Amino acid sequence: MIEYTLHGPVSQERSRIRVMSALRENRFPQAVLIDGPAGIGKKALAMEIAKALQCTDPNMRPCGHCFGCRMAEDSGSTEKWVVPMESDEAHARSSDDVAPGSKAKTIEDFKKAYIEEIQKNPYRVDIFSAGAFISVDLIRAMTSAFAMKGDRVRTVIVSDADRMNESAANAFLKTLEDVPADTYFILTTSSREKILQTIRSRCLALHLLPLSDNEVRGEVLKFAGEDFDESALTDDIVGLAEGSPGKALYYAENGKGWLDLSVDFLQKSLKGDYTGLFLQLKETTLEDPYMANRFLEVLSFLLADLLREQAGATLRMPETAHKVDMAQFPRIDATALELSLVTVQETMSRIESRRITPMMCLQTLSLKIFEGYK
Ligand SMILES: [Zn+2]
Repeated sequence: MIEYTLHGPVSQERSRIRVMSALRENRFPQAVLIDGPAGIGKKALAMEIAKALQCTDPNMRPCGHCFGCRMAEDSGSTEKWVVPMESDEAHARSSDDVAPGSKAKTIEDFKKAYIEEIQKNPYRVDIFSAGAFISVDLIRAMTSAFAMKGDRVRTVIVSDADRMNESAANAFLKTLEDVPADTYFILTTSSREKILQTIRSRCLALHLLPLSDNEVRGEVLKFAGEDFDESALTDDIVGLAEGSPGKALYYAENGKGWLDLSVDFLQKSLKGDYTGLFLQLKETTLEDPYMANRFLEVLSFLLADLLREQAGATLRMPETAHKVDMAQFPRIDATALELSLVTVQETMSRIESRRITPMMCLQTLSLKIFEGYK
């Protein structure tokens, strides 16, 4: 019998055991959907599974050195991936259509760059831009690669499968209805509900769990580049990441000032120091809608911690939460905090709709939050 050993963090062992026994018993499904919060390593697991499926070692898979294993790790094998792209990238010409010697970037070139990024650090949450999506052309390019006959096992990883637009999802569904022999699809998503029910029902669901705080720390340091500032990975940042190395890395790199800013945002809003707050916001990078919403996640987290404090529960960002001087605001009770969380959530939806600038939304939020309790 062939033995399978997939590697990964201990907290996610249960999912791997399920996969390994299905592989061992030769009943691995042709389509799997890995879901779980952003940045916890779904793509890392997908890559491990792809390698195990493609490996040809007679005893132990993945062996890491056979042709199948090497192909699975080759970023040039772009047909093994479907990734969201910006529309100009997805509309670039295919290498088959470009004249020999042309320097024009092809769709495969763009894709290869994304695959390299993923392989360098599969936890990263900012590899794809907010507007990137999976178009029907990307799905068709993938299925036409099937037409080329091969006798090897083929795997396709569909990263961020929820980013398929409607026509892409329908085209993909057709592929799933009649999966060619020896072909396996591994989809990943952090928004399972955004995927067509008909696609979901054809995939085995693998729900991946977040990591422990210690594992988050370990994985961030393992994958972060040499110029990563370790001191930015504070206990509060790890707490904020909720088991996601990708989020911890993102906040350590981009949100250094955000924890303190969230404290100031609350205190200045409560005191009515709007001018001071608006000036402070102007100095930030929150003009960008994606960043503005990541900051609001931090703010929500702080509010949730203040709620935990009132309930006597353990805090996730104790150092930051203790900077808010709640004694100054005796009217802020649990109800006020719960309402404020809803207000922040509404603001995030407004920013996402992109009808109003993030700065305007943040200013309105500072006026509206704790309305009636100030
Ligand atoms: Zn191998």
